[in-house]
Amino acid sequence: MSRVAVVGAGPNGLAAGCVAARAGLDVTVYEANTTIGGAARTIPLDGSEAVFDVGSAVHPMALLSPAFADLKVRERVDFLVPQMSYAHVLDQRTAYAWQDLDRTVEHLDSGSNLPLGQGAVFAGLLGPLVQRINQLGDTLLNPLLRLPAHPGTLAAFGVATLGGMGLQQALSRRYPKAAALLAGCAAHVAGGSR
Ligand SMILES: Cc1cc2nc3c(=O)[nH]c(=O)nc-3n(C[C@H](O)[C@H](O)[C@H](O)COP(=O)(O)OP(=O)(O)OC[C@H]3O[C@@H](n4cnc5c(N)ncnc54)[C@H](O)[C@@H]3O)c2cc1C
Repeated sequence: MSRVAVVGAGPNGLAAGCVAARAGLDVTVYEANTTIGGAARTIPLDGSEAVFDVGSAVHPMALLSPAFADLKVRERVDFLVPQMSYAHVLDQRTAYAWQDLDRTVEHLDSGSNLPLGQGAVFAGLLGPLVQRINQLGDTLLNPLLRLPAHPGTLAAFGVATLGGMGLQQALSRRYPKAAALLAGCAAHVAGGSR
């Protein structure tokens, strides 16, 4: 039997090890830390009874990941899904993105005396993606070097991405809260490529 060495027991090393083991290979995972999980670990620090996320804390893509679905991670791990997904709290443009898009739209429009509702702009960008979230996950989280299974969804993603950039850069004065929410997401994409 062929032998495989995986260096690092973070999420990627563990997923790679599982895939290789399922393919019938003899897998050994090497980990420098005393616990597995890498930057996704939740562990006690300094003897505390409380546990801390030493790296990642929010895992929306884990719920969509085809690799995790294949490994039945959702059935084995209890994911806590808060009603509020994220917020922008840095200045007077404080805004919240609820898990429910309609609730976010309502919140963005509350107290707004702008001529065109920010909520409608936000929903116009993200609504088509929310409706096709499973197709979107399948398209973006599988190898990209293939004919897309859902070209319409990919096009909607392109429109939302370009529209989001336009909203942030050109229209942020008119739609400050919606632009702030999108800016936070965009910044995290850059951070995620560490
Ligand atoms: C502060 C922070 C916050 C984050 N927040 C989020 C978030 O909220 N949501 C999200 O989705 N992602 C987040 N991330 C990103 C996410 O944690 C990483 O994308 C993910 O952990 C990468 O997994 P990995 O297996 O590639 O690497 P890692 O998780 O880094 O695991 C690598 C493992 O390899 C081990 N290792 C390295 N070299 C050796 C060696 N020579 N020998 C033996 N073992 C070795 C390390 O000890 C480690 O356990 C965050 C990351 C950080 C640092």
